[in-house]
Amino acid sequence: MRRHNPNLETKMQLTNDENLINTVLHAPIGVCILDAKTLVGEIVNEKFLEVAGKSREAILGRFYWDAFAEARPYYESALTQVVETGEPYYANEVELMLIRHGKEEWIFVTFVYAPIKDKTGKVTKVSVWVLENTRQVAARQKVEIERAVSQQARDRLTRFFMQAPAGICILDGPELVFELINPLYQQLFPGRELLGKPLLEAVPEVKGAPIWEVLQGVLATGKTFEGSEMIIPLARTDNGPVEDRYFNFIYQARLNEAGRVDGILVFVFEVTEIVNIKRTLEASEIRHHFLLNTMPQQVWTAKPNGELDYVNQVVCADFGYEATEIIGRSWQEFIHPDDLPLCLARWAEALASGKEYMIEFRLKFHDGKYYWHLARALPFIEEGLIKSWFGTNTNIDTRKENEYKKDEFLSIASHELKTPLTSIKAYNQIMKRLDIPESVRPYLNKSAGHIARLEGLIADLLDVTKINAGKVSYTMEPFDFAQLLEDSIESLKHTAPKHQLLLTANPAVIYHGDRNRLEQVINNFITNAVKYSPGAAQILINSVVDQDNIIVSVQDFGIGIAKDNLNKLFDRYYRVDNTAMRFEGLGLGLYISAEILRRHGGSFWIESEPGAGSTFYFRLPVNRDKTHEVTRTATYYRDRHITINYQKTHNRLDVDWTGFHDVESVKKGCMLMWDYLEKNNSDRVVNDNTHVLGNWSEAVEWVGNTWFPMMEKAGLKYFAHVFSPSTFSQLSAKKSIDIMAGIITTQYFTDIGLAEKWINEQKLK
Ligand code: ADP
Repeated sequence: MRRHNPNLETKMQLTNDENLINTVLHAPIGVCILDAKTLVGEIVNEKFLEVAGKSREAILGRFYWDAFAEARPYYESALTQVVETGEPYYANEVELMLIRHGKEEWIFVTFVYAPIKDKTGKVTKVSVWVLENTRQVAARQKVEIERAVSQQARDRLTRFFMQAPAGICILDGPELVFELINPLYQQLFPGRELLGKPLLEAVPEVKGAPIWEVLQGVLATGKTFEGSEMIIPLARTDNGPVEDRYFNFIYQARLNEAGRVDGILVFVFEVTEIVNIKRTLEASEIRHHFLLNTMPQQVWTAKPNGELDYVNQVVCADFGYEATEIIGRSWQEFIHPDDLPLCLARWAEALASGKEYMIEFRLKFHDGKYYWHLARALPFIEEGLIKSWFGTNTNIDTRKENEYKKDEFLSIASHELKTPLTSIKAYNQIMKRLDIPESVRPYLNKSAGHIARLEGLIADLLDVTKINAGKVSYTMEPFDFAQLLEDSIESLKHTAPKHQLLLTANPAVIYHGDRNRLEQVINNFITNAVKYSPGAAQILINSVVDQDNIIVSVQDFGIGIAKDNLNKLFDRYYRVDNTAMRFEGLGLGLYISAEILRRHGGSFWIESEPGAGSTFYFRLPVNRDKTHEVTRTATYYRDRHITINYQKTHNRLDVDWTGFHDVESVKKGCMLMWDYLEKNNSDRVVNDNTHVLGNWSEAVEWVGNTWFPMMEKAGLKYFAHVFSPSTFSQLSAKKSIDIMAGIITTQYFTDIGLAEKWINEQKLK
């Protein structure tokens, strides 16, 4: 029965054989029949369309190669040949690219071009049979790849085994027969045949060695054995000398399917060289430590972060603990609690700046007593990085003790001297009031003068011992400062009959402080002025109130002081060399004055010219609690001490210091500079000190040792310093810059314009 089949092309002229057509159309294989002459598609089945990924319309009634343009270059000639020769063409699992449903796809197909001939044998049609194999091929390829990979892995394993930087062998069965060995393992036994032989036969010397026991243990228990730096006397070559060699061993049990130990896997690493290097290092370390232990001081080292990592035996003996315990506990426990805060602050500063650490503190020894030490540490720098800190603590307790004894002696002596002197003075005054012969009176007056001087000297000595012991007490109360100045001058007038003491200005001001102590300062300045200007007639004393400060100056026209000596004047017992012999004195007056001023938040400075005279200044702050105006933006800062202005066009920081400074104001200003430099990524500073008054010498060390290194780390490269007109301030600045050791380029100027010009000429980052 003829069934209507929609797949059947009506144009089909070839055959009436419905069976054939039906077979073709329902074949599980793709079939397409073409006219041999025109190669136009005449019959095509679903399967073919499915494999081809084309529509029926693309093939039926169309030139075959129009539908398969992408395959034409490869198979056109084959098809033509089939028509011409009548021989079929087979393509087995060929890979080709087809455009299926508009997309390029690589597939595997098996296809046949088969001729269909008429009775005369002429090729009239060509049938194309096609079967897709993509999935099968892919699966097969996967298997092949896996096989290749596992072969590769095996190869790699073998390579690893043969080239491993360790000797490896497998000992099989209870007899421990060498089943497998790699070349490095063989090298351990040059010239010996190992493979296939039981261990005892190949290496008989093992028999009595502890190793044999170990191997038996692994066999019996299945537990892995690891031995390190085991020494084995072995020759390196066949007949070479036996030498001590070191090995790390691993013996690992090999288990069979039943989980029983049936062999041992051996790994051997030769570590002779490492052990030898270690020994050498240890030896040099021992020598190094021996050396450190011969030192009478405490010696220690710390990591770059400050953590202690070594102490010598002196430290252990002093503290009564083992080194490890001391390192674990850290120094802090042994430092006197009163000394600890400053000590930690200094250490933190040193760590931050990478500069020398130096401090005196008391350390608690095993006897429970504290002993004074001078600690000093320096960073050990390699390739620009701190690798370690090396420190010593020198016991200075005896020195401190002596100093203390000396101070105590001075204190007792001056006390003892004071008592009889007071009596002498009293008797002297009584005698003056008595009716005595006129010829005696001048002698009485002279002795009164000497008594006064002696009194002054003893008072100075007492003060110094009190300062040293921290026992000076101050009675702070409000008083009329102008009155004090007047009174002081008045009482000094008759001690300096040859000089005129002229008070040029003295504004009214109430000051809150210790009146007696400040009188001492004024007296000291004036008596010095008198003493060191023996040929002069006048001493000018002046007082001004400026910028919340009282500033008193005492000017003489005497011998003056050379610049080099200026900064040292306020030190204890310091006396300028050439004056020491000519003028009497202990060198204590200015030291005491400095201390008194410091306690009042004041400062002092000197302008002097040798031969022309000196002006001694001191400053006392008034209204200390008053708050002051502050302006602050990201590039600008201003308060009453400092103005910082970041100039973006020149990438420079302009800093203008104003007025009087002390350690605190200098430190504060410096930290602000650091902050603005870093935040604005600047590398240069014009530091203008032209408006600085007085001095800031007490911050010198901090600026040089701590602040400059911080600035360097923050990127400072160029530093132009414009001098203050104050000699003292100039000296301070120079000293700080001298202390600083680094790569910052500095220049001094007296003119701000030149400073700016210089800094702008330095090349930008
Ligand atoms: P002294 O008792 O020696 O005067 P001071 O501490 O008062 O001790 O002064 C210390 C040193 O400072 C003096 O020895 C002197 O060299 C120097 N000095 C102090 N005042 C003057 C001055 N007005 N002119 C020159 N030199 C001075």
